[in-house]
Amino acid sequence: MARKPLMIGNWKMNKTPAESVVLSQGISNRYNRKWDKVGVVLCPPSIDLRPVVTVLDYDKSLIEVGAQNVHWEPSGAFTGEISIPMLKDVGATWCIVGHSERREMFAETDETVNLKVRALVDARLHPIVCVGESLAVRDAGTTIGFVTDQVRAAFAGLEPAEAALAVVAYEPIWAIGTGRTATPEQAQEVCAAIRATLADMFGTETAQSMRILYGGSMKPANVDMFMPCEDIDGGLIGGAALKVEDFTALVEAAG
Ligand code: PGA
Repeated sequence: MARKPLMIGNWKMNKTPAESVVLSQGISNRYNRKWDKVGVVLCPPSIDLRPVVTVLDYDKSLIEVGAQNVHWEPSGAFTGEISIPMLKDVGATWCIVGHSERREMFAETDETVNLKVRALVDARLHPIVCVGESLAVRDAGTTIGFVTDQVRAAFAGLEPAEAALAVVAYEPIWAIGTGRTATPEQAQEVCAAIRATLADMFGTETAQSMRILYGGSMKPANVDMFMPCEDIDGGLIGGAALKVEDFTALVEAAG
């Protein structure tokens, strides 16, 4: 089954609202709005969501917008958090869940990842479910078990049609922001295991329709190694998503 490639920019805690206008405008200008061979999603900080959506709406862009985090409750006493109704109101249609930085620094667990995935699919939003092993896990030779357990936990309790709203991003922690990437063989091996796990949970047809991304120091110089891999359908891009030239080069390479 042909899956449309997907390139997602994870801006992390970079770009003020004013800077977010410049970057999204630059990407939108360079990205031919009629060129729909690759799906593109920008995930700016939550305070930048409104300006980025405004820029892209004005351009009638095909580029979609996602948040980097969300709470699973619709409202309440959760200081500092943002809710799914807020995302919907602002026009975000995607949301990163379970990024390793949030698992490590903000106590996100397999359980809260599952609650967020559940809440997002209930609202018909698209979760970007991040999984990936530390260097210690890789060195111990237990990567496949570790990552597929994360996938099972994140998607627990979902129906196939709900799971199909999501994409999975495989991001080995040791490759994030380090300049060091997994080899294509390492990345393909894990992405194939993720797809096999999704097939076991939701059936082959659903698993074959779902996009699995690689993330971790992906840049124009190495993207061509990853895109031909059978089970890699695009990228979740951090550092290289902050420059118009780099990000648009990655989008073009994926098409
Ligand atoms: P990086 O980040 O491309 O800067 O390694 C990827 C990510 O953490 O999503």
